[in-house]
Amino acid sequence: VLLVRRRMRSSGKWAVAEAILRELEEKCATPTAKLRRVADAMMVEMHAGLAIEGGSKLKMLISYVDNLPTGVMVKVFEVLNEKGLFYALDLGGTNFRVMRVQLGGKDNAIKQEFDEVSIPPQLMTSSCNELFDFIAEALAKFVATEGDDFHLPPGRQRELGFTFSFPVRQLSLASGTLINWTKGFLIEDAIGLDVVGELTKAMERVGLDMRVTALVNDTVGTLAGGRYSNADVVAAVILGTGTNAAYVERAHAIPKWQGLLPKSGEMVINMEWGNFRSSHLPLTVYDYTLDAESLNPGDQIFEKLISGMYLGEIVRIVLCTMAEKASFFGDTIPPKLSIPFILRTPDMSAMHHDTSPDLKVVGRKLKDILEVPNSCLTMRKIVVAICDIVATRGARLSAAGIVGILTKLERDAPKEGEKQQRSVIALDGGLFEHYTKFRECMKATLDELLGEVSNSVVIEHSNDGSGIGAALLAASHSQYLEVEEE
Ligand code: BGC
Ligand code: MG
Repeated sequence: VLLVRRRMRSSGKWAVAEAILRELEEKCATPTAKLRRVADAMMVEMHAGLAIEGGSKLKMLISYVDNLPTGVMVKVFEVLNEKGLFYALDLGGTNFRVMRVQLGGKDNAIKQEFDEVSIPPQLMTSSCNELFDFIAEALAKFVATEGDDFHLPPGRQRELGFTFSFPVRQLSLASGTLINWTKGFLIEDAIGLDVVGELTKAMERVGLDMRVTALVNDTVGTLAGGRYSNADVVAAVILGTGTNAAYVERAHAIPKWQGLLPKSGEMVINMEWGNFRSSHLPLTVYDYTLDAESLNPGDQIFEKLISGMYLGEIVRIVLCTMAEKASFFGDTIPPKLSIPFILRTPDMSAMHHDTSPDLKVVGRKLKDILEVPNSCLTMRKIVVAICDIVATRGARLSAAGIVGILTKLERDAPKEGEKQQRSVIALDGGLFEHYTKFRECMKATLDELLGEVSNSVVIEHSNDGSGIGAALLAASHSQYLEVEEE
């Protein structure tokens, strides 16, 4: 009814476009009550995924990280002292990063250097050997630039923490098999292989003598890096090209864990929340189209609603419908509009943040990217409204996910007679870092859902914490540490 009334009110030419917009808004709506149901569903799936292998779409992967760098590192520094040179390698998003970290020395300072290379797109769908050769070569080049500031004692093998941001079934802290690819990667022959084994072989092929001592997901690396500087960190969330979360679970609350109970009584769980799915998620026809056309149909549905790889693409798909059904761009459909992923989330963000009265930025983006030469203000306003609806939905759902974790940890509500514990969530990823409206909406939604408890929940931006975290984990599992400890 509302829709019809609005449609009648809006003036002729734009009526159909307005109607499509209103319907989108309705279908993407995330009122508080709905978000609570999403958070509860997340919590229920967490339990199910911890109970038995394959018990839920949430894989709830055991990371083998059962001792996070806080106190541990002090000891590591003591033993390794000035000798703590470690490497880290981060693969999983748009960029691929290599870094070296010098641990220990005076005041346990951390000295770091890094290099970042964007991944040639054709490599993302190539073969296992091609991908790992590329990585090993880049790493070898980087190692060759090791300067005097970084010390490796004579006779010591270089050690590496490998951040690999895809679902992996860990066999130990330093090995694990790839379950499936996400985020635009699809290299069939790598699925099921031990990625550390593959990397090690590639390093041998390029003549690089280095040993992987820790294999971690980016969320786990971020959690370790975050915990190192702040003992109140209980979870880490990545909002970037993809999305995921890891948190510290009590070991006895993991029925599927068959191993010995760790001394700490804790285990870091990589949730792989990107694969969360629930009937409470506000899915639209545009989301079904995106999913069907993706490299991994049926998978990563939560990720496809939230993360940086997909937000711009959703907007493009909505605009396609506008073009077809409402002649939004005139009599013809701009040919560029039909190219998947042509509208990237950073461009969407730029349009969404346009504050100029005539929406200049939107006009320029439409011209540069979609080759729409003349856009009027009404058209630009509708584009901004689409960006707003899509980003708001993603941001609010990610807040609901975090509340799901806090609920599982029983940190979502005040406890009677107890002082409220501080819960710090380490956050990283380009979407969180650069898309201001997304970040602010996510935080505001968290406050909305948590009420008074929100005072004790802190979102901390952990800038590239995953690299440092991986290096710290590599250090605390160094082969030399064990030898010297004995
Ligand atoms: C991957 C996760 C990763 C996340 C963020 C997802 O697509 O499945 O392993 O943590 O992206 O990088
Ligand atoms: Mg990353």
